[in-house]
Amino acid sequence: MTWSIRWKVAFGTLVAVACGLLIAGVMTVQSLEQRHLTQFGDALETKTKLVEYGFQPLFHSSAPPTPSSLQETARDLGNRASSRVTLVAEDGTVLADSAVRDADLSAVENHKFRPEIQQAFSTGQGQDIRPSHTTGERTMYRAILMQPSQGASPLVVRVGLPMVVLDRERSDLQQRLFLALGFAFLVALTLSVWLAHSITKPLSDIASAARRFSSGNQAFHVRTTAQDEVGLLASTLNHMADQLHAKIDELSEDRAQLLAVLTSMVEGVMVLDRRGHVLQMNPALERMFGISRVEARGRSCAELFRHQQLNDLVTVMLRSRTHHQDEIVLPLNGRCLQVEASPAGGERENEASVVLVFHDMTELRRLEKIRKDFVANVSHELRTPLTSIKGYVEALLDGAKDDPAASVKFLEIILKQSDRLNLIIEDLLELSKIESGSVSFKEEPLELRSILDRTLSTIKPIAEKNRHRLITAVDPSLPPVAGDEGRLVQVLTNLLDNAVKYTPTGGTITVGAKLIPSVGSDEPAPCAIELSVADTGIGIPEADRPRVFERFYRVDKARSRELGGTGLGLAIVKHIVEGHGGQVWVEANHPQGSRFVVRLPLSTTTHKLHHMNDASRT
Ligand code: ADP
Repeated sequence: MTWSIRWKVAFGTLVAVACGLLIAGVMTVQSLEQRHLTQFGDALETKTKLVEYGFQPLFHSSAPPTPSSLQETARDLGNRASSRVTLVAEDGTVLADSAVRDADLSAVENHKFRPEIQQAFSTGQGQDIRPSHTTGERTMYRAILMQPSQGASPLVVRVGLPMVVLDRERSDLQQRLFLALGFAFLVALTLSVWLAHSITKPLSDIASAARRFSSGNQAFHVRTTAQDEVGLLASTLNHMADQLHAKIDELSEDRAQLLAVLTSMVEGVMVLDRRGHVLQMNPALERMFGISRVEARGRSCAELFRHQQLNDLVTVMLRSRTHHQDEIVLPLNGRCLQVEASPAGGERENEASVVLVFHDMTELRRLEKIRKDFVANVSHELRTPLTSIKGYVEALLDGAKDDPAASVKFLEIILKQSDRLNLIIEDLLELSKIESGSVSFKEEPLELRSILDRTLSTIKPIAEKNRHRLITAVDPSLPPVAGDEGRLVQVLTNLLDNAVKYTPTGGTITVGAKLIPSVGSDEPAPCAIELSVADTGIGIPEADRPRVFERFYRVDKARSRELGGTGLGLAIVKHIVEGHGGQVWVEANHPQGSRFVVRLPLSTTTHKLHHMNDASRT
């Protein structure tokens, strides 16, 4: 059984008080008894001396005292002193006794061996307390030696005083004292319980508040008015709890901020301990490697990723504890990641020792490659006509200028190559303008039918020259589309120009435009307009189709150049279409040739316009 502190204090105080009271009581009783006894003894001594004095005349008269005179004097003195008076001869014979009748005197027992008698004969006086043989009462005896006359043998005068009164007084005193002590004990009991309560109440308040606090209750506050050490303890604990709260709040805030930063980071972050085991990783890294944080936590980096280059980096990092950087390629998806490893300082298990930050460089590397390819392509494309021009100019200077026919031919070639150079530069400038965003597309409602007619009228002469058949299949209910007329004409011209260029004589070119209904809605409202240019020409191999929209990409370079192509037309088309929020792609045309499709979204305004048109038509 465990006692509460309250009962410990109460019981302890009570035991201490009880012991104190008991000792005090016993000592008081003893000292009072001793005092009474001394007073009693003193009174008895005085009486004994007076009795001895009372006997003296009997022994100083001329005739020796008779037994009856002795007995009479003893009785008289005994009455006066209210005590028992005994006269004892040297051999112990009782010569007179106030408590014995004359007739019985001879039968009284010899008193020689009574302790007080023995003491008196040997030292002159003696004292003893014992129950009387004669009366049976507890009696104090006092004896003194008496010299009756010169040469006579000494006698002992003994006075016995019963201690009944003294004993009664003593028991009275004891009774009163124990009553007082009992009362004092009761007061002490009440006081100790009250004291224990008042001392331990704040302590038990603190204990229960601490228990609530440890079980997760955030509100720790001990209410106390005590000004003593317990009050100080309570206010210190309150202060500590407040500080703890503030610290916990601060840490939680920091943690939340850190988590928010880690979660919102595009870069993958991973924290390892000194053994290379994963402690933490952010969602970006989970996505990069396709693993979850839960399965990764606590596992070694080597076992988790099984990527030799990454393992080597981690191993070197853990050994050297210095900043390292490397670039790795993920075998699964071919993504290129730049890894930066920095030491975090943790030396123990489960302490952050290394922080790895993964930057996804795939897009950057792709763009870098495109840029490099572009520079190489531009240089090449510009150099080809320039080399040709230079060659013919040199030939003219070397003497061909003197041959009129050759001069004309050479100059025509120079003009053609200059035009080509001009074309390339114009297309490049156009592309760069669109890419840089300096060209803003208008958003005016356009009738596609008129755009198509305008474009077809410019392309018709060339198509006719190549004996191509031009077919238009345009949906008559086409709604107006929001866009830039000039740019959309440019798109269609490029596509039709290509169709004419890459279709052998006598081919068929079909231009179509239709509405595409939105998928999934109950009412099939149109969501886009699809323009298509299909030809029966040489077609584009499947592998080249996604790449024909790249700058300078040509399926057949020689043929393209021969036909006066720059390799930039489709790149321009793509940029314009995407600038209108649309898409462009190429697919195979059956049975032969290519089919370029431009899908333009219908904006809300044009959508409404379409509905209004529909309504007016019906
Ligand atoms: P180019 O100036 O060379 O025509 P483009 O960017 O317009 O450049 O076209 C890129 C390449 O796509 C062309 O070189 C050609 O190989 C291919 N191409 C474009 N249109 C067609 C088509 N209608 N039929 C076959 N190939 C085409």
